Amino acid sequence: MEFCNDSCAMFFLAYTYRRGIKNSYIMNVYLSTAKRVKMNPHDYYVKAGRIASEVRENVRKMDLSGKDLYEICERIEKEIIVRGGAPAFPVNVSLNEIAAHYTAEPNDSTVVNNSDIVKIDIGVHIEGFIADTAVTVTLNPNYQDMINVAEIALNEAIKISKPNTRAADIGDVIEKTIWKNGFKAIQNLSGHSLEQYTIHAGKSIPNIRTFSSSFGLTVNEAYAIEPFVTTKDGQGIVYEGKVRNIFGVVSRKPTKESKSNEFLQNLWQQYKTLPFTTRWLMHEYDELTARKMLEILLNRKNLRAYPILVEGHYKAVAQAEHTIMLGKNDAEIITR
Ligand code: MN
Ligand code: MN
Repeated sequence: MEFCNDSCAMFFLAYTYRRGIKNSYIMNVYLSTAKRVKMNPHDYYVKAGRIASEVRENVRKMDLSGKDLYEICERIEKEIIVRGGAPAFPVNVSLNEIAAHYTAEPNDSTVVNNSDIVKIDIGVHIEGFIADTAVTVTLNPNYQDMINVAEIALNEAIKISKPNTRAADIGDVIEKTIWKNGFKAIQNLSGHSLEQYTIHAGKSIPNIRTFSSSFGLTVNEAYAIEPFVTTKDGQGIVYEGKVRNIFGVVSRKPTKESKSNEFLQNLWQQYKTLPFTTRWLMHEYDELTARKMLEILLNRKNLRAYPILVEGHYKAVAQAEHTIMLGKNDAEIITR
């Protein structure tokens, strides 16, 4: 396992872009999508947020026991589409010590047990404006305290979120709230700013007190805040696992081979900079072909993978997440 040193919580999409690796193929989308905006961004966020919260609340009530992960993911993504949204990334269903970035494989028959703790992370976008929210569910009463603490930490963080609130202060509140309630924050996962078609737009909202340079929240910007909580005997650090079933296009540079090139252009057409998964490709490709193409494009660095993130001591993890938008005086929870 490899240390996740980008402190990436959710899909560091603008990664190569921000790093200054010039990629005209990727840059084009920013120009063309900016022109397409008709509604005020705030209205898109509100609409995406309403769908995301409705779907999340249905998940909270859903009886997951005995259901397999394939069925759960497909059902949630369908609910998003039925309501007029589009999944901004494959629904994450991360079990137990997996903190994030697992989605069902094609025909994934992993069944949720009564002893499991399940983080369900949902992204909805409308015209690229993304609402990002998560809920943790369990049938195991031993995990209920940890889940509640994640929710309490999220609420405390939102309470202090106003224009100019320092991100470091949000991290401080999250870490202290979690610790005084008997648990430990995951230190290398964080919330993030959001931009059109970009889930991680470059600013991180930490889940611990940080001492490096911080920034203040900005009016009219959207941010996801997402505390991750583990037990005090957990390491409080996540590492990348071997499994990877979520991918994103990072370069549209054509390949020399026409089949993989067509595959790449098709991915771009459908998902742009947003993450996708093998399961989503099954209506167009057979599984073997899709996996082969993905492998080729990963090796060529046209795609990047988002491996699962696993707690360092294999302890269970809970997560809570809302997307907020900063008004002149306070924060509006768009996924309330
Ligand atoms: Mn997020
Ligand atoms: Mn999320």
